[in-house]
Amino acid sequence: MDRIENLCIEKGMRMTEQRRVIARVLSAADDHPDVEELYRRAHQVDPHISIATVYRTVRLFEEAGIIARHDFRDGRSRYEEATDHHHDHLIDMKTGKVVEFVDPEIEALQEAIARKLGYRLVDHRLELYGVPLED
Ligand SMILES: [Zn+2]
Repeated sequence: MDRIENLCIEKGMRMTEQRRVIARVLSAADDHPDVEELYRRAHQVDPHISIATVYRTVRLFEEAGIIARHDFRDGRSRYEEATDHHHDHLIDMKTGKVVEFVDPEIEALQEAIARKLGYRLVDHRLELYGVPLED
């Protein structure tokens, strides 16, 4: 069983066969697919899955904190497994490619800024939008 499927069961979610397929597709994804892409992948495993089911299931997983939703300004919500390993994102505006990174200096700086403003930082999101230096 994959990690997302396990988490669903831990959270007491009823796992139908279609939810299992969607959970597996999400676990296997190493990019940040939107619902249509998830539907395309799930549909290859089980042609009976509808896009409405994918929408509902993704929403259910998101509400349970099992997956994270991102909005990278292209009008489509993107999803990835919610992990304990924090990372930020750089979005290639030319290709839409999403690059994950962690920078200890930025992490420390954000904490320092919050502290200066009288807060203890509990979470943050950072998105960089760029175009390739070459060409
Ligand atoms: Zn990510």
